[in-house]
Amino acid sequence: MFNRIKHFIDTFLLTELWKGMSVTGRYLFGRKFTIRYPEEKTPQSPRFRGLHAQRRYANGEERCIACKLCEAVCPALAITIESEQRDDGTRRTTRYDIDLTKCIFCGFCEEACPVDAIVETRIFEYHGEKKGDLYYTKDMLLAVGDKHEEQIARDKAADAKYR
Ligand code: SF4
Ligand code: SF4
Repeated sequence: MFNRIKHFIDTFLLTELWKGMSVTGRYLFGRKFTIRYPEEKTPQSPRFRGLHAQRRYANGEERCIACKLCEAVCPALAITIESEQRDDGTRRTTRYDIDLTKCIFCGFCEEACPVDAIVETRIFEYHGEKKGDLYYTKDMLLAVGDKHEEQIARDKAADAKYR
């Protein structure tokens, strides 16, 4: 009986409607969560795991020493490396490919690398239109690294503070 009276009063006073309107009003005048992508973007962590890059030292020498730890640790078998010894006795890759269609962006390759050569950048705005577009070769990875080295170095320094 009590429930029926309460239901009648709620219906008469439009209680549910006012409750709904109060939620609408709260979000209408509250802080906005919607962003207007691509003009606006959400903040990113220095640890964001986006497109891969291969880095060089300041003198232009590539960092990678072809130890193949990244290839061994990759759970998706996305990395393929071939290497040879150079005339100066150092070892370098002759092939370093990442198949991004296999990659699960776990970051293990970056974690395993002893010389901070392979990294995952903040870049997520890339795509492929035909088969093979997302198969990144050594030259492509080095080009990404060359273009974004400043940001990569900043992120590495910020990340080191948390370790
Ligand atoms: S992020 Fe993970 S899956 Fe992708 S290449 Fe590196 S180790 Fe492999
Ligand atoms: S990227 Fe790093 S872990 Fe992979 S082969 Fe080169 S030096 Fe070794």
